[in-house]
Amino acid sequence: MNHGAGGETMQDFLSKHIVSHFSKMNSDVPLASLDDSAVVDGIVFTTDGHTVKPLFFPGGDIGSLSVAGTVNDIAVMGARPLALSCAVILEEGLDIDVVDKVMMSIGRTSAACGVPVATGDTKVVESGAVDKMVIVTSAIGKRSSYTDHNLSVASQYRNVDSKWLTDDNVRDGDAIIVSGTLGDHGVSLLSFREGYGFESTVKSDIAPLNGLIEDVLKAGGTVAMKDPTRGGLANTLNEWSSKSKVGIELNENDIPLKDAVVNACDLLGIDPLSIGNEGKVVIACVPDTADDILKVLKAHPYGKDANIIGYATSRTKNVVMRTSVGGRRIIEPPIGDPVPRIC
Ligand code: MG
Repeated sequence: MNHGAGGETMQDFLSKHIVSHFSKMNSDVPLASLDDSAVVDGIVFTTDGHTVKPLFFPGGDIGSLSVAGTVNDIAVMGARPLALSCAVILEEGLDIDVVDKVMMSIGRTSAACGVPVATGDTKVVESGAVDKMVIVTSAIGKRSSYTDHNLSVASQYRNVDSKWLTDDNVRDGDAIIVSGTLGDHGVSLLSFREGYGFESTVKSDIAPLNGLIEDVLKAGGTVAMKDPTRGGLANTLNEWSSKSKVGIELNENDIPLKDAVVNACDLLGIDPLSIGNEGKVVIACVPDTADDILKVLKAHPYGKDANIIGYATSRTKNVVMRTSVGGRRIIEPPIGDPVPRIC
C-alpha cells in the first residue's frame, strides 16, 4: 500500500520501477520531472486514477473528484484546461442508479468549470475484480495567456529559470500561500468511512480551481503552484524544497485549519499537514506580490480562508515549521498514507 501512498516510498518506486522503463521526453516539463502535468509540444497533459472508498461522501463523490483533481493538475501549471477524457471500469452487478449518479456528478462538475468530457472508455469486469468502480480521467490544457505576465513580473525581482509554474521554480524569499483550510477532504472521508462523526462539521473541499487560479494569474508574480492532494501540504512543500533546492519556513499559527480537523487529527493521531486536499492550491510568489494575490484569493468563494503561511529560505535545506509554542519542527515528507483510498 505504501508504494501507492504518495510519499517518499512511492517516489522511489516510481523512479525505479515505473518511469525508468519509459523513454526520455524532450520537453520543458517531461514525465521525469514528476510535476502536476507534463508539457508535450506546448500542450499541457495529465492523468489521474480514482479509487476513492466509499463512492459517495459528505461534500462530493468519485465523479466530482475525478473532474476536479484532473482540472486542478492542469491549472496549477499555469494552463487553461480544455477537455477531459473519462475511462470507467465497473464491477459486474453494480447498481445502474449508482452509475447514473456518478456520471451526473461528472457532468455537473465539468459544466461548472467549463471543461467538457471529450472522449472516454467503459469496461465491465467480473464481480470482485474491482471494488465497485474505478475512474481514470486525463486532461489537456493550453498555456494561460497570463503565465508569461507572471514570470515576467517575477523576473523584475529575481532570476526566473523555468518557463512554467513548476516545482523547481521556488527561490529564497518567495512567499508561500495556501488558498484555504487544510485536511478537510481527508478528515471528512476517513470520519465518514469509519463512523467517527466528524464529517457532520467537516465536509470534503472538492472543487475545480481553474477559475480561482485564473484570477491569481491575473495578479502576477506567481512562480509555482501545486494542489496539495495525496501527502498534503507536507508532501507539496517537500517536493518544492527538494526540486528547487531551497528551504521553506512555515508559521504554524498562520496555517488555516478548522478546529474540527485539528480535534479529529489529535484524536486519530494523524498530522493535518500530511492528509489530502481536493480543493486547495499552494502558491509560491515573489514577496512583493503576495498581498495582492492574497486579496484576489480572499475575494473568491474557494479562497476566502487563504493565508500567507511562510517563506522560502536559504537558511535551511528542510521544510521547517515555527510551532505555536515557539519551537521548531522539521516537516518531513510523509512515508506512507495515514488515510488510504481518499482519492
Ligand atoms: Mg497535483
